[in-house]
Amino acid sequence: MSELEFFLDDKKSGSATETPGARKNSCPAASLKPADGKKIYDLAIIGAGPAGMTAAVYASRKMLDTILITKDIGGQPLLTSKIENYMGYQYISGKALIEKFDEQVRKFPIAVVENDGAADLKKDGDKFCVTTESGKTFRAKSAVIASGKRSKELGVSGEKRLLGRGVAYCSTCDAPLFAGKDVVVVGGGNSALTAVADLLKIARKIYLVNNLADLQGDPVLLGKTESPAVEKILPATVAEIHGKDSVEAVSVKTPDGKIRRIMAQGIFIEIGLEPNSAFARGLVDINFAGEIKVDCRSRASVEGIFAAGDVTDVPEKQIIIAAGEGAKASLGAYRYLVGLKK
Ligand SMILES: Cc1cc2nc3c(=O)[nH]c(=O)nc-3n(C[C@H](O)[C@H](O)[C@H](O)COP(=O)(O)OP(=O)(O)OC[C@H]3O[C@@H](n4cnc5c(N)ncnc54)[C@H](O)[C@@H]3O)c2cc1C
Repeated sequence: MSELEFFLDDKKSGSATETPGARKNSCPAASLKPADGKKIYDLAIIGAGPAGMTAAVYASRKMLDTILITKDIGGQPLLTSKIENYMGYQYISGKALIEKFDEQVRKFPIAVVENDGAADLKKDGDKFCVTTESGKTFRAKSAVIASGKRSKELGVSGEKRLLGRGVAYCSTCDAPLFAGKDVVVVGGGNSALTAVADLLKIARKIYLVNNLADLQGDPVLLGKTESPAVEKILPATVAEIHGKDSVEAVSVKTPDGKIRRIMAQGIFIEIGLEPNSAFARGLVDINFAGEIKVDCRSRASVEGIFAAGDVTDVPEKQIIIAAGEGAKASLGAYRYLVGLKK
């Protein structure tokens, strides 16, 4: 019997004197537990960024038997060194904020599958079945999709092969590895301009390549590109990344068809983010941008499936918004599960 069933039975017999979540001593501390492929969970949460971690806490406080399936613990905040807009902290690093979230999640008895992503989400009778990238399957009566976004790839030769060996997607994480080196930054928005600002303190020369003739960023960041250490190559596209064991050069193509080979030891690809929604395609409605469509109660188009955070079509992608949506999604799932029992 799951915690939810226990609570509902308890209520039916008239013996429940406390609200679920207020029951004391029922959630041992630091109690993340191994996942069980045989049982049927009340709720499967996919993703452990701000949305998924908040959803996990809210689900546990509602006594839902919950499994959290995730590629990592933390998501995008791990890519930023400085957060100044999460209430309660005037300044906190992404890593420190995630440590706080993680500490709170670990107070509850949640089953966790880490370092393994959802590859497929299907309806299986009146349940949902998640198949992971490593081939494991887990079943639950409801699901919260909180799989966020990831960096877009260029899709050029050399990009995948040299990933982590000169090819990077996060200047906050990797800029310090390029001290005194020549690097290419690809993109024209705030992410690319932030990468230029980060690298100006570290690299020798920065080539800024964008497929449009203009840069679209905040004025303060645009100002950084006026440094003599920055050469703008606009408009141009990356044709190929070269190198045997690490990046040695980057070829860029200009609109007149000319190819220029830039000698550089690194390339930062900062061309935006895309939603991690492929595993749910065909099951729930998705918009033109790949985001899962939700209503104001965080419900996706299939009953029993909820979604929260950057993977959804909710406007504004921020930590505090993702966390709030994660809370809403779990409370929605709880309401749905209580409805199933009636
Ligand atoms: C560089 C940078 C700086 C930022 N700075 C700020 C800031 O200062 N303030 C602010 O409010 N916001 C900031 N943001 C935005 C903020 O980080 C996001 O809005 C927020 O993290 C979204 O949370 P999320 O939980 O929806 O998704 P994510 O943080 O993307 O987390 C998604 C989770 O899902 C997991 N996952 C992905 N695919 C799968 C799968 N198939 N199966 C299972 N798990 C999966 C991931 O591993 C991760 O755990 C920044 C973002 C970036 C990239």
